[in-house]
Amino acid sequence: MPTYRYACAECGAFDAIRPMRESGSGASCPICAGPSRRVFGAPALRALPAGLRSALDAQHRSADAPRVATSVPGRAGRTQRRATDPRQLRLPRP
Ligand SMILES: [Zn+2]
Repeated sequence: MPTYRYACAECGAFDAIRPMRESGSGASCPICAGPSRRVFGAPALRALPAGLRSALDAQHRSADAPRVATSVPGRAGRTQRRATDPRQLRLPRP
């Protein structure tokens, strides 16, 4: 449920978590239980950490057009590791 801000004439502003269908009606003040009207402020937008933002962007991009490998990656940059276990040396090689 969303959080809405209300203002009591006696006690000041307070936040209330209410269903959206009740957002237009007034709320009772949690301190004096008097009637309070809804006030509008800036939206509560927050900056996401860079890593999370890039991960979410990649997730959105891949939802419609997932990245597909079109060729086998080359051997450049790969280091050949020598197996130390003789059972690994007997495995079939591509
Ligand atoms: Zn009040």
